[in-house]
Amino acid sequence: MDSSIEDGGAPGGGAEQTDPAKAPRPAPTTAAPAPVPSPSIRSTVAGDVPASGGERAAVAPSSLSPSRAGDFMQCPLLYRFRVIDRLPEKPSAAATRGTLVHAVLERMFDAPAAERTAPRAKALIPGQWDRLRESRPEVTELFADDPEGERLAGWLQEAERLVERWFTLEDPTRLEPAERELFVEAELESGLRLRGIIDRVDVAPTGEVRIVDYKTGKAPRPEYAEGALFQMTFYALVVWRLKGVVPRRLQLVYLGSGDVVTYDPVVADLERVERKLRALWEAIERATRTGEWRPRPTKLCSWCDHQAHCPEFGGTPPPYPLPVRADESGSGSQGRMGPD
Ligand code: SF4
Repeated sequence: MDSSIEDGGAPGGGAEQTDPAKAPRPAPTTAAPAPVPSPSIRSTVAGDVPASGGERAAVAPSSLSPSRAGDFMQCPLLYRFRVIDRLPEKPSAAATRGTLVHAVLERMFDAPAAERTAPRAKALIPGQWDRLRESRPEVTELFADDPEGERLAGWLQEAERLVERWFTLEDPTRLEPAERELFVEAELESGLRLRGIIDRVDVAPTGEVRIVDYKTGKAPRPEYAEGALFQMTFYALVVWRLKGVVPRRLQLVYLGSGDVVTYDPVVADLERVERKLRALWEAIERATRTGEWRPRPTKLCSWCDHQAHCPEFGGTPPPYPLPVRADESGSGSQGRMGPD
């Protein structure tokens, strides 16, 4: 897959994103001029299994999101801990800031086009932070040992910098998103259900669709770019299956480094990701049946909350909570599965 870095202010479309803290939102309260026809991509959706929170009953997986597909590709045991055992995880400062910034960018489009300015966006941060703490009280743990509020102040300043940078990459006064934080779900012919949340969908007057995802981190080096593009082609596949339209452009907006990465998919790309997802799902179903979830240690283990339960770190997984059957297929590979 090729990708190119270019100016992000392309005319015509709107788009959306992928992170936690994206909750279904009410319809915009301010009607802005609509140079873009309303799309009709809205679909049904159920939430993805969250990777944090308290005790919940174990369930067999029934659908796949980009995040959980990424978990399985990174480490099958991590997928098990998150999706089947549903072990709680601590909130992270970076992910929580990403959630906050996403909320601000999303709410920015409530305002009339001419009022979508950087100062106005920054002014939204305190209120959105309050809302986030109300909806997810666990995030206050992040600053429990910060009585003077110094770390919180620095964290909020970084959120401001990320929001300001967005205005150097896109011009929201020229965008009228068709959808924001769009929950989508589609069932493939194989029966596999795909679901996710798209940050922004722009639809040009010609009907061309652009899918946009905000990233609060830095753009990866080209050799590591496949993961993000996998997520975007996943969304493109869902939109294609729902509406029969191949999105014209996939756009990743990296607020951490100030890069905009775009990719224009073709049908062969989406067919390839569909085959990939089918194989991935077969591997997940097999592991669910047999209870064999292999750890796959990488440098990403440093960020894993489950080392205490991981054999690679001397831990023991909790008892497997689902019925186990022997693998009758004889093809129990959980070999490395990259995005491509
Ligand atoms: S510590 Fe590493 S190997 Fe173990 S579950 Fe987490 S990601 Fe997998």
